[in-house]
Amino acid sequence: PSPLAPAPKLVIDLERLSQLPKDKAGPLARYAATIQSQRGDYNGKVLSIRQEDLRSLAVIYDKSPVELTEEFIHWGVLDAEARRAVESF
Ligand code: C2E
Ligand code: C2E
Ligand code: C2E
Repeated sequence: PSPLAPAPKLVIDLERLSQLPKDKAGPLARYAATIQSQRGDYNGKVLSIRQEDLRSLAVIYDKSPVELTEEFIHWGVLDAEARRAVESF
């Protein structure tokens, strides 16, 4: 990819996240809530997270970052652009 291309972003859809069953989405929901609290960022409909946060989440969910990204896209909490963000992993 061109160094001038905008970096692909990992953007969590917080509204969608709040609709998902807790047994699946619980760890992601707690992680997102922690980031919101650290930033003091409570009013957004979405939350941009760090690429390294997806690595941590992959450990939590016991999946590879690529597998977890596909799952989050399937749940509707990440959009398809997120695939490009994990290509470099
Ligand atoms: P920190 O990592 O020492 O970052 C301090 C401040 O630098 C952040 O304050 C933010 O203003 C800025 N900053 C650091 N990295 C980035 C970045 O990639 N993009 C942008 N736009 N700004 C950046 P802030 O937002 O109040 O966060 C305070 C602390 O909360 C951070 O300290 C970090 O420890 C934690 N934090 C916030 N958001 C995240 C996150 O998405 N992931 C992780 N792992 N920690 C986060
Ligand atoms: P963008 O990154 O495409 O974000 C579009 C809008 O999504 C933002 O409009 C904001 O309403 C929402 N959004 C995205 N990530 C977050 C998040 O982590 N928390 C919250 N609460 N909302 C989020 P906004 O704020 O008017 O920003 C417009 C554009 O300005 C952004 O487009 C981006 O290009 C730039 N921008 C804003 N904040 C930052 C930042 O911290 N770092 C960088 N590099 N650009 C920023
Ligand atoms: P962004 O603000 O557009 O930043 C894009 C990338 O630039 C970040 O990708 C990171 O590689 C680099 N970057 C930006 N600011 C800093 C900084 O202060 N220190 C360092 N070491 N690198 C920086 P990354 O980490 O994958 O983050 C993706 C997006 O997540 C950021 O886009 C921002 O929207 C959000 N984010 C990440 N960390 C923080 C944070 O601590 N506070 C806030 N408010 N937003 C954050």
